[in-house]
Amino acid sequence: MMQDVVIVGGGMVGASLAVALSRAGMQVSLVERQALPQRPANAPFDLRVSAINRRSEQWLDSLGAMASIQQSRIQPYHILRCFEGKQAPLDFTAAELNETHLGFMMENLEIQQALWQNLPDSVKRYCPADVESLSQYADHVELTLQDGQRLPTRLVIAADGALSKIRQFVGIGQTGWQYEQACMLINIQTAYDSLPMTWQQFTEHGPRAYLPMPGKQASLVWYDQHARVAQLSKLTPAQLKAEILQHFPADVGDFTVQQAAYFPLTRSHANRYFSGRVVLVGDAAHTINPLAGQGVNLGFADALELSILLISQFQQQLDLAEPAMLARYERKRRLANSTMMNAMDAFYQVFNSPLAPVRTLRTFGLQLASKAGPLKALVGKYAAGLV
Ligand SMILES: Cc1cc2nc3c(=O)[nH]c(=O)nc-3n(C[C@H](O)[C@H](O)[C@H](O)COP(=O)(O)OP(=O)(O)OC[C@H]3O[C@@H](n4cnc5c(N)ncnc54)[C@H](O)[C@@H]3O)c2cc1C
Repeated sequence: MMQDVVIVGGGMVGASLAVALSRAGMQVSLVERQALPQRPANAPFDLRVSAINRRSEQWLDSLGAMASIQQSRIQPYHILRCFEGKQAPLDFTAAELNETHLGFMMENLEIQQALWQNLPDSVKRYCPADVESLSQYADHVELTLQDGQRLPTRLVIAADGALSKIRQFVGIGQTGWQYEQACMLINIQTAYDSLPMTWQQFTEHGPRAYLPMPGKQASLVWYDQHARVAQLSKLTPAQLKAEILQHFPADVGDFTVQQAAYFPLTRSHANRYFSGRVVLVGDAAHTINPLAGQGVNLGFADALELSILLISQFQQQLDLAEPAMLARYERKRRLANSTMMNAMDAFYQVFNSPLAPVRTLRTFGLQLASKAGPLKALVGKYAAGLV
């Protein structure tokens, strides 16, 4: 049967769209390559953790996912601290913005599972299933799965991540590069309960970050040159701990290393967000330096914008792949995504420069920002997704 929409990729972004569109009455299919892992409620924390900003929290809440997420697995944070060397830190606080918190640290897997729990029964799930090919026609598009099943639909939404096959099927190229730095994610068990604060220390080798997790858990992020991060990844937990004690601020306290993995840092932006009856969202459309933890927040903002436009088309019984509507989606989201990507790159350049004048400017900038009330409030609101 012809579906209104087939979503390829049931990660955080694709699953959120599947809930939103099916609840509005659309016939939705969801294709996901990997079976969702079933894990006990007290499973150790996964390495992939995201800082979910207030706008993303509202989106997840509107889909029922916030209520399905185990409260014992998420950690609110009220303070976002940036510092360099022995300079006084620059703190962005929820209180300054008259908010209760700036965001939540959550495991990607927990968010994905909560969204899947909220999928209405009407959503046809193909999981695990991979796509084989895609053919576009004037009034529909047909996906063929690797097991031979054919899925005709009015619109395919590609939410299949950074290496999107769907984007490649329709020949949309991308512009971007890999950064000189890579980043290592390290889960630790701490000696004390986490504080509701996330911090980032800037060093000449790259930032060091602390993400609080519930109870005596935290995630550390170590950005450094590829070779250095590769070398760290070969260390035993005890050796890695010794390196962390030497290269992270003392605020981390005593801890045990539980698990670690490293990732390259890539910036990429699709040259177009749609082609015919195929539209891109989330990492399929863009990947960003995770420096300020904005990747999935941009993906959720894509999903929200696209869902508003598609639901309006559906209610008016208009074509779900109308080029003018998809162009509207692209215009709005490309501008917002590019702005955030460029801001992260400016940040990356300024904070990684060893040049003395840039360092002076940086220190001056941090001091100025800590005094400049309205500017600081604006940056804080932007980081929390409140503007
Ligand atoms: C080191 C690191 C740290 C990060 N930290 C943060 C952070 O703190 N905050 C933040 O907001 N973001 C962060 N990000 C970015 C964030 O993880 C991504 O932006 C986010 O996962 C994108 O979600 P997505 O649903 O678009 O794609 P993905 O999470 O990649 O999901 C894609 C889904 O599609 C499925 N799929 C792929 N191919 C196929 C196929 N052919 N057929 C069917 N299914 C398929 C996959 O199995 C997967 O489930 C970080 C990224 C990195 C690398």
